Amino acid sequence: MTSIFSKIIAGEAPGEILYRDELVTAFKDIYPQAPVHILIVPNREITTVNELTPDDETTAGRMMLVAALLARDEGIADDGYRLIINCNRHGGQEIFHLHMHLLGGKPMGPMVFR
Ligand code: 5GP
Repeated sequence: MTSIFSKIIAGEAPGEILYRDELVTAFKDIYPQAPVHILIVPNREITTVNELTPDDETTAGRMMLVAALLARDEGIADDGYRLIINCNRHGGQEIFHLHMHLLGGKPMGPMVFR
């Protein structure tokens, strides 16, 4: 089945796209958890981090570089931000198309609930 993120990347579903290249696309999260909440997504439908292969090394690296680029664009690079990748049930993953969350624009609090 095609993921909702593949549909956004293909222009078949609405999405506020902020960045696109041959490997990754970034768009705003529909339910933002912070003033800045962007999803950085590989164009190829990789379901979870577990499914990354050595062939995806450039894509995986590009996701982080694009996150840093967008953090600068959004003016949150110096104050800082959080990057999150959830994997499967214990990680709280809801959409099974790999994505990195870029969250910032306010102090993000502790990394996990205490
Ligand atoms: P996960 O829990 O899988 O790491 O995060 C999935 C994220 O995708 C959530 O933050 C959720 O708000 C976001 N999301 C779910 N459906 C859509 C959608 O249709 N469009 C966009 N832009 N974000 C979505």
